[in-house]
Amino acid sequence: MEEFEFDCWQCWETNYIRGRPKGFWSTTHYELPGEWTCWSCGALNTTPDD
Ligand SMILES: [Zn+2]
Repeated sequence: MEEFEFDCWQCWETNYIRGRPKGFWSTTHYELPGEWTCWSCGALNTTPDD
């Protein structure tokens, strides 16, 4: 598991989103949820594509 930092679009609090490794052997590519809810204000955020 790897954590990624994203800033909420509404309140700019930093959220830590956990990614799942893509594939069994890969440790460099992570799959992130498409959207997540800010822990601070509850706003729905979308994960930017890389
Ligand atoms: Zn927020």
